[in-house]
Amino acid sequence: MNRDDLILITGAGGFIAGALVRYFHDKGFSRIRAVDKKPLPQWYQRTPGVECLCLDLSSEMACRAVAEGATEVYNLAADMGGMGFIEHNRIECLRSILINTHLIEAAWRAGAERYFYSSSACAYNTDLQKDPKVRALKESDAYPAMAERGYGWEKLMSEMFCQEYWAERGMKTFIARFHNVYGPLGTWDGGREKAPAALCRKVIEAKDTGRPEIEIWGDGTQTRSFMYIDDCTRGIDSITHCEELTATPINLGSSELVSINDLLSIVEGIGGVKLRRTYKLDAPRGVAGRNSDNTMIRRILGWEPSTPLKEGIARTYRWIEEQYRARKAGARVAS
Ligand code: NAD
Repeated sequence: MNRDDLILITGAGGFIAGALVRYFHDKGFSRIRAVDKKPLPQWYQRTPGVECLCLDLSSEMACRAVAEGATEVYNLAADMGGMGFIEHNRIECLRSILINTHLIEAAWRAGAERYFYSSSACAYNTDLQKDPKVRALKESDAYPAMAERGYGWEKLMSEMFCQEYWAERGMKTFIARFHNVYGPLGTWDGGREKAPAALCRKVIEAKDTGRPEIEIWGDGTQTRSFMYIDDCTRGIDSITHCEELTATPINLGSSELVSINDLLSIVEGIGGVKLRRTYKLDAPRGVAGRNSDNTMIRRILGWEPSTPLKEGIARTYRWIEEQYRARKAGARVAS
């Protein structure tokens, strides 16, 4: 790719795409078009010199307009959130199919050379995730399909669009199945936040209010792996520029498995507190266990996400603490 080729990044007011915009900007790409349906003041970050547009990409016309002239398209726009959001908003999650359906067609019409789609580990068969002592999920475990209701099925269907645009129309598409991404400049409050950000915020709140207790969703034994945002942006770039991965879904996640109880202990350690834990057993908790099998990414890219959880969580905690303090002092902050 030339440094002045146009890169389109959708969902750029959100967490991962916002970081991806900065990543490509810092690599020296001079023409980046960033799009999100959120009003600009609510974006987590806006990189100077980048064209930022507020448009709803579930509309075909909007997709055609933004894809015009793009050499590469990165679709990270989706109506999503943590377990609480995706379990209670299945229709909204399914409706994200409109974004990818229109955007991939618009990218193809515009003659884009590469199209990236952000899929999810929620596309995997849930029957394989009933035990906290999980066998890590490998790429072939998505079929036979029994994806997470709503959100996971939308991901699986959109992956299929990507595969067919390559098979039938020859547009190079790339698909990463993200496993829980976390880091600064992402959702940390309001109902869409995921476990790492939620636990950081709850620990910060407990310290601030002087109430030494914390509520955990589920029994805390559920296990996950969490990938730091810098690994995610680097992985997206590497995957999208690897010919061998054309139209081939691949895991992009950490393989450092942790239970929610242990994740909380890490956060408590960073915050320097120990809280009394209560467990909300009827809260959305998702599958019992999930980890990323990184055999394929190691074989093909010779790399895998490797930021240690403790390091990444410490940076995330500090950022959320700044946001929390700023909001308490009356500043308007994106959450
Ligand atoms: P995010 O919610 O922070 O960002 C998504 C952005 O898409 C939001 O800013 C939202 O306003 C925007 N959007 C939603 N509908 C839109 C529309 N119709 N038109 C334009 N913009 C729209 O989420 P994120 O964590 O940055 O996730 C980015 C992508 O990665 C999503 O596809 C998500 O499903 C996928 N993913 C994320 C994770 C994770 O742990 N964060 C895990 C697996 C997959």
